[in-house]
Amino acid sequence: MSDQRLEEMPTDWQRALAVVAHPDDLEYGCAAAVAAWTDAGKQVGYVLATRGEAGIDSLAPADCAEVREAEQRESAAVVGVTTVEFLGHRDGVIEYGLALRRDIAAAIRRHRPELVITLNHRDTWGPSPGGFWNTPDHRAVGRATLDAAADAGNRWIFPELFDADLRPWNGVRWVAVAGSTTPTHAVDARPGLDRAVRSLLAHRTYLEELTDRPAEEYVRDFLAETTAHAAPRFDGRPAVAFEIFPRPHP
Ligand SMILES: [Zn+2]
Repeated sequence: MSDQRLEEMPTDWQRALAVVAHPDDLEYGCAAAVAAWTDAGKQVGYVLATRGEAGIDSLAPADCAEVREAEQRESAAVVGVTTVEFLGHRDGVIEYGLALRRDIAAAIRRHRPELVITLNHRDTWGPSPGGFWNTPDHRAVGRATLDAAADAGNRWIFPELFDADLRPWNGVRWVAVAGSTTPTHAVDARPGLDRAVRSLLAHRTYLEELTDRPAEEYVRDFLAETTAHAAPRFDGRPAVAFEIFPRPHP
């Protein structure tokens, strides 16, 4: 990992939209940053490609979807996010393609964010070689979100959206990728950390299945460890790190 200092995330924006594959994707890394942003009076919305219905072995998808959707709404509310939308793609088998790009572009046109957040779109977590293989859902949604930030601004791409009164929005200035192996920017995690813990804890059904450890201990340790990872490059401050892809601003 580079030892270059992480820059402060831009703050000269008002609306952000986070687009990820599954319930819990944002709580596993970004929620402390989201809490800091909503504290500062910014609006943040969440868009989830799936309802996470394939995520719990002991629960059939139809039942699981309801549980996980409710847990996601609760976890979003903890960090000040009240807009949570589900695109209805199938968990585990999301396909990168025009349908996904169109759905995300439509969400970007509806919400008109300046900052778009997504999760690691690359093949692996951590350095390659030696990193864990990423899931196809994360790769597909991350890449489609990076692409849709531009699609949203072009009226001739997905003209059916234009016909449905979703006017082009070319105002996305940055797409910030969480969980990147090569982060460039960071947000101090400390002010939002307790709420990030509670936000992840809201996924209680999923956590019960995932670990035998007491859920709060597991969650605190996990978030402390991941936010400490960025500290050496951010003046010793535990942080949520992002890789920023800037976009040309009109
Ligand atoms: Zn996920």
